[in-house]
Amino acid sequence: MSSDTTTAQEAITFADLGLSPKVLSAVTDAGYTVPTPIQAGAIPHALQGKDVLGIAQTGTGKTAAFVLPMITRLEKGRARARMPRTLILEPTRELAAQVEENFVRYGKNHKLNIALLIGGVSFDEQEKKLERGADVLIATPGRLLDHRERGKLLLTGVDILVIDEADRMLDMGFIPDIERICEMIPFTRQTLFFSATMPPEITKLTEKFLHSPVRIEVSRAASAASNITQRLVKSGPKPWDKRETLRNLIKAEDEGLKNAIIFCNRKIEVSELFRSLVKYDFDAGALHGDMDQRARMQMLANFRDGKLRYLVASDVAARGLDIPDVSHVFNYDVPIHSEDYVHRIGRTGRAGRSGKSFTIATKSDGKYIDAIEKLIGTKIEWHDGDLSTVVASEESDEQPRRERAGRGRERDRKPRDARGGRRSDAPKPVERQEAPQPVAAIANDDRTARRDSIRHDNAARKGPAPERQEPRRDTQRARPHAEDDDRSVLGFGADMPAFMLVGGKI
Ligand code: AMP
Repeated sequence: MSSDTTTAQEAITFADLGLSPKVLSAVTDAGYTVPTPIQAGAIPHALQGKDVLGIAQTGTGKTAAFVLPMITRLEKGRARARMPRTLILEPTRELAAQVEENFVRYGKNHKLNIALLIGGVSFDEQEKKLERGADVLIATPGRLLDHRERGKLLLTGVDILVIDEADRMLDMGFIPDIERICEMIPFTRQTLFFSATMPPEITKLTEKFLHSPVRIEVSRAASAASNITQRLVKSGPKPWDKRETLRNLIKAEDEGLKNAIIFCNRKIEVSELFRSLVKYDFDAGALHGDMDQRARMQMLANFRDGKLRYLVASDVAARGLDIPDVSHVFNYDVPIHSEDYVHRIGRTGRAGRSGKSFTIATKSDGKYIDAIEKLIGTKIEWHDGDLSTVVASEESDEQPRRERAGRGRERDRKPRDARGGRRSDAPKPVERQEAPQPVAAIANDDRTARRDSIRHDNAARKGPAPERQEPRRDTQRARPHAEDDDRSVLGFGADMPAFMLVGGKI
């Protein structure tokens, strides 16, 4: 591997990078004037057909760093049936869909055939797109291999391969799949490889599949996060203690809180916290790996459009999501993997804006906090006294009285618009309700997504499973994670009958 490390220069403009006029025009329309360091570093090399190893995480502009040169290079030549010209591998459906959005935005002056191969949606439409000939194939590894096994896809025409979020692929057990796919694509291809970190398994992969890559490393979010105010918040250990702490925090932030992502470590916590917040009439949605694709995309769109103010999410579901303007991140749980902390707080304070992150900590979280502080190289301040000042909870596990007593008093006071709105005649919260009564106050599309959340939430109650799984190291075909596994589609999945779509379509 070449150690030709490139340092990006500040003064460079997009016009200096060698992109085609049509691409430059789309970049101008997107409102970008100065390339980010990863773009300035990667694009000229990618245009020359060199392999690139980009060490960068989301939020650095890395998507455009591969999409823009790809579109420029795709201007020559055309697609053939079932033989895509380029392939981008993404670990999750959301990331794949986001990359597709980037191709649509930057490829507006081109006629590109884009095929998105992700789980949770039917094969038929995807096969039709492959049959038509795809310039760009964006896929999660499992679904890609399924198509190939069905004989609908040949990878021998792929000239450019992008492997994005490689360390996340490792976490999710996709490395054997990635190796298989790399071996199916001609040796002469160009490979653009991106990872936020370089654990030994990823280094080995790059040594095996990249040819003299140009290495471009941009600074980690942890060191770039000076515009994010980070605080630790003490809490009692019980779930209702933590929920009360969270509600108090939200209340105290008041008007300064535009919107927030609330991270939990496990799917079951996402579900329970989501239900609790809705019960308290907070304008919340949930995002976790057991929701079907349509519900996840809808939830995300509602949050992005400001129809939902709070998004309760797991790490896997939220990884890499591009939500430009989040004012707050709450860690309802201290992340077990310290790197997740960096990714979580990186959801706020984007593009130079200021942001706030609050991490709720209990007495058993000490070692995780130590690991985070070691990783980010600084101590995080306590918001209102450290854990030595926590008063022990006296509640029993079965009787969250404090929540019941306080229910409805600490409502989300922010006025809402008609679509996401809480109405004065909204039903009162009911303890342990199974049906989504509060959803009645929400517009149809929001309602369907929330109902799906609750439906999956009920399923999650039966069998809690950690969202993050141990990486698999086996050499067999790995289909380990719900994000890319059709089997995770519960209930009707994408084929929900019309009678269930109360009041209209999604
Ligand atoms: P990414 O790291 O690819 O997820 O991009 C993060 C965000 O930065 C996205 O909202 C992009 O639209 C935005 N972005 C990408 N390139 C630029 C640029 N050169 N100037 C300003 N914003 C950009």
